[in-house]
Parts: sequence; structure tokens; C-alpha cells
Amino acid sequence: MNSLNRFKSVVAQTSDAPLGLEIESAEGVYLNTVGGKRFIDFISGIAVSSLGHRHPKIVRAIKDQVDRHLHVMVYGEFVQKPQLEFAELLVGQLPERLEQVYFVNSGTEANEGALKLAKKFTGRSRLIAFKNSYHGDTHGSLSVTGRDVYRDPYLPLLPDVHFLTFNSFEGLDSIDQTTAAVILEPIQGEGGIIPADSKWLAEIRSRCSDAGVLLIYDEIQSGFGRTGKLFAFEHYGISPDILCVAKAMAGGMPMGAFVSSKQIFETFMYNPPLNHVTTFGGHPVSSAAALATLSELLTGDYLDRAVVIEQKVKKTLSGEGIIEVRGLGAMLGLQLQSRELTEAVVGDCFEQGILLGWTLHSDTLIRLAPPLIIQDDQLDFVLDTIKKSVKKNI
Ligand code: PMP
Repeated sequence: MNSLNRFKSVVAQTSDAPLGLEIESAEGVYLNTVGGKRFIDFISGIAVSSLGHRHPKIVRAIKDQVDRHLHVMVYGEFVQKPQLEFAELLVGQLPERLEQVYFVNSGTEANEGALKLAKKFTGRSRLIAFKNSYHGDTHGSLSVTGRDVYRDPYLPLLPDVHFLTFNSFEGLDSIDQTTAAVILEPIQGEGGIIPADSKWLAEIRSRCSDAGVLLIYDEIQSGFGRTGKLFAFEHYGISPDILCVAKAMAGGMPMGAFVSSKQIFETFMYNPPLNHVTTFGGHPVSSAAALATLSELLTGDYLDRAVVIEQKVKKTLSGEGIIEVRGLGAMLGLQLQSRELTEAVVGDCFEQGILLGWTLHSDTLIRLAPPLIIQDDQLDFVLDTIKKSVKKNI
């Protein structure tokens, strides 16, 4: 049996048509297959490899940490240097109220923790989320994910979750004193790369503050430089009470976190003690990788690069067949006129060694999320290939 069939036989499948590339190695913007093909990874492993694959400083930090220690204790008991240094560096970049970090292993776990924290802190259970949002596939996160097709097979989910329309003022008066939290993505990712409207976001912030409701931002996809700022909320100057992060955070290692104030986090310490714990959250190797990733992001010109990528993509990709390119920095979506055209473009690019992808909720939107280290000639090649393919297939 070849590897693809073995993979299909023993690795549980989530789709009946997996891409099935067999990866030999990955370096920078490139994925190298066992068959000797090379692909430009224009989706960064879905917004993870922002500094490219195997960034040398991240690899060094991982190796150094492996030589010191791996897992030593469940989260929250021992002082582990990479975790401590990373937390200090991260909160140093954030508004004052975001002063403590709770470490987990993934995006969905960050949201789970944030929802529990908001319920415990406020003593309320009502949650407000938005249609077309995506917050992860565990039960809590799925409960606030705004797409019925993904929710329906798993009902009943968490009770008392109410969905409003993203960027619409309708229903915002339901953010009241019975509400624990409002959870939203400042730029909806899987929902189709849709940035929040700044007046709308300001209205939500103000209603949350007035009613003592915690505002949770899910920046799992938009965080760590992808949009041209360290976090997307900086574009708006409107900060959350809890910030959820993951994906690009640890440069390719599994990690997530939610960040909030000391006062809010204290609620996890009592009644009962240890009421939210994790074995592997903040794993020392992931923390070392996260520290190297954030240090590099802050010293290099990556954020500016994201802006250049945005400008170049928006300027180049227009014309017949293309509805629009939207998004910020290197978190972009290319909206095409039909599903057939989208499929053809993704297929042509694949043939030419460029890996593109869809977002979960849309079949006419191509996700453009290259590593921020992509060079001009590589970017030009990708954009040129997309342009030619659109022209050929309309
Ligand atoms: N929130 C958002 C906005 C995401 O994009 C994702 C992943 N696509 C998640 C949550 C879930 O993250 P994970 O897959 O690490 O659980």
C-alpha cells in the first residue's frame, strides 16, 4: 500500500478528499514533498508559519530547550523560564489590563478557557457571539461558532448563546447585565476574511463596559503580526478584556493562550482552587519557540512586510472574474465570481507549485496568507500565476 492509502487507512479522516501531499521537509516559504515537488506555502499551514517554516532562530530555541528539559509538571506549579520570559515579553506589548497569560495548547482551548473565565468572573452564563464566526471544534467553542451546519450534528450545545449579525448594530442592546461575555474575531477568518467595522466594534466595547460584560477577542488567526500589527485590535485601538491567541504564536509548535487582567484571573484560584488546569499548557518547548518567535517578530521588519504584501496583492489582483481582495496585511481573501473559477484557480496554482486554500465557510473565497518572509519575486510569481489562471478560466 502506498503512503497515501496507508494514511487514509489508519489516520482518521476529516474530509473525503484530503490534499494528501507527503511532506519530506519544509523550509522558509517552501514545502518539499517526498515525490520531489516543491510548493510555495501561500497559506502558512493556515496562518501558523508567519516567519516561514523552520525559522533558524526558532529551531535553535527549540533545540536548546530540548537539551534543558521537556515537560516537568502540570501547568501553573513550577517556574519554567521560557514560559515566564515569554509571558513577560507578550504582556509588555499589550494594553495594561492584559497583564497575565494563561497557557494552553491550541486555539480552541484558549476560547474554552476564556468562556469559562468570563462565566466565573461575572457569575453570569449568557454568551453573545456572531453569525459566521469560527472559534474551534470543542464543545464550548463550537457553541459560540456561528454556522449551523457545523453545530447541528452536535446539539444540544451550551445553552444561552445568542448570535447576532457581524458588523450590524441590530440586537446590540441585548448586551446587558445578564450577559457574561461577547466573543468575536476582530477579523472574521473562516467566515470569509471580514474585518470588523470600527464604529460597530466601539459600540460593542462601550456596551460591554457599561454592563460589566467581558469582551473576548479571538485573535487566533489574526494575531502575531499577520495583519501588519502585532494584534488586529491595534488597528482599531479598541482592546478586549480577554485576548485569545494560538496558531502563529509558537512558530510552528502547538500553543495557545488567553490573556486578561490579574483581577479577572484570580477567579480561577478560588472556589474551588485549581478550577481550570491543564497538563501540557505552556509546554516548555512550545514556550521557548514562542519566545523566539515573538522576539524575532519584534526586531525584524515583518509587520511592515505584511503591509507591503497587502498593498501588492490588492493592487495586482483586480479585473474580470475578481470581485475583490479584502482583509488586512497578509490576512487576505480573494473573492472570485464563482465556485468553478475558484476551484480552477486553486487547481492551476497547485499544478504550478503554489498551495492555496479555501476558508471553511465560503467556496468562492481563496485564502491568501503567505509567510511574512515571502520575497518579492516569490510573491510576484504567485500573483502572476493567479492572474493568468483567472484570465484563462473566466
Ligand atoms: N479561532 C479562530 C479564529 C480560528 O481561525 C481557529 C482555527 N482555524 C480556531 C479558533 C481554532 O484553533 P485550533 O484549531 O488551534 O483549535
